[in-house]
Amino acid sequence: MGSEKAFDLAVPKTRLEFKNVTRRFTEAGAGVQGLSFEISAGEIVCLLGPSGSGKSTILRLAAGLEDPDSGEIIIDGKSVAGNGSLLPPEKRGVGLIFQDFALFPHLSVLENVAFGLRRLPREKREAIARNVLGKVNLSHLADAFPNILSGGEQQRVALARALATRPGVMLMDEPFSDLDTQLRDTVRNELVELLRSSGAATILVTHDPEEAMRVADRIILLRDAKIAQVGTPEELYFHPLDREAAAFFGDLNVIHATVAEEKAATPLGTVAAKTFDPGTVVEVLVRPVDVALSSADTHGTHAARVADRRLVGGSCLVELAAKGEGMPAHMVAQVSLDNAPEVGSEVGIMFDPARAHIFPCRKAH
Ligand code: ADP
Ligand code: MG
Repeated sequence: MGSEKAFDLAVPKTRLEFKNVTRRFTEAGAGVQGLSFEISAGEIVCLLGPSGSGKSTILRLAAGLEDPDSGEIIIDGKSVAGNGSLLPPEKRGVGLIFQDFALFPHLSVLENVAFGLRRLPREKREAIARNVLGKVNLSHLADAFPNILSGGEQQRVALARALATRPGVMLMDEPFSDLDTQLRDTVRNELVELLRSSGAATILVTHDPEEAMRVADRIILLRDAKIAQVGTPEELYFHPLDREAAAFFGDLNVIHATVAEEKAATPLGTVAAKTFDPGTVVEVLVRPVDVALSSADTHGTHAARVADRRLVGGSCLVELAAKGEGMPAHMVAQVSLDNAPEVGSEVGIMFDPARAHIFPCRKAH
């Protein structure tokens, strides 16, 4: 013992569970209400939701920085909050990374990483810290102070500091939002790879649906302090719970229709509507990528005029002024650059009915 043992990033296999957890900040509610979910060892779950929906509160509850009013939080089979128990943060085996990284400015990078290992003898502490720094490719900055580091480097120090204590649960609150777009992709890929090799049960908070789609094994969609929907990125994208959930993953074209004979017929396509009563007014939602354009003289498609087009990423957003009864006045199609029609031209529009989402029409009030 005592000799330098190679430090493996692998953390103890741990499961995190919330059972009907409520934390109220005001009489009216807020905080989180009646949350139940489980995260397995090695799983990365993204909490996605608008500002104020309770994302940070969930992390703070899991970390022990906040106590639930009711319900139970279980880590590795042990009750850490609720049910009469309350384990302090340092005994929970959780690592926490905040948006601003929260590095200690007066400590070197190595000392920052070693911080959580204070109880170990100095030599051992340092050996572990150096090893973890190596894993995040920052050995050369061990003696530097945080203020000279780039955003991406600070991010990796924060991760190394969290990983050094080998937490079974890793909690990250919008850890990439302070990084610029280009750096964000690189840093995120590195971090996700490290997290995967560590096997930690991970919660990553984000308000960016694209980030959640890229990173998550599962997404928990929050709304008004409650869970609105849980599923894989594919499940949430292809089978959204309702219009708000669908809208979280990008713009939608909305076409109104009235159900007849188990179908909702729109000028652009007919969608199966088996679960709706005849006469129900529904919204047919179509994502811009699922709108197909053709030359205007193609038979049987509805016509529209191209009002504008904009290059976004590798594709083109085409704004359409649609004509005809039952058509929304404006529609947006996202097409490849090669298929983007000229502004002012007439085009035919269609959508793939299998890709459309159909929900009861929201009442005006
Ligand atoms: P998010 O991280 O999704 O933006 P939060 O979890 O920070 O949301 O907050 C959820 C709700 O609880 C918000 O309405 C917020 O104002 C409220 N809240 C959070 N922390 C406190 C607190 N310490 N005191 C009072 N209200 C709070
Ligand atoms: Mg927050």
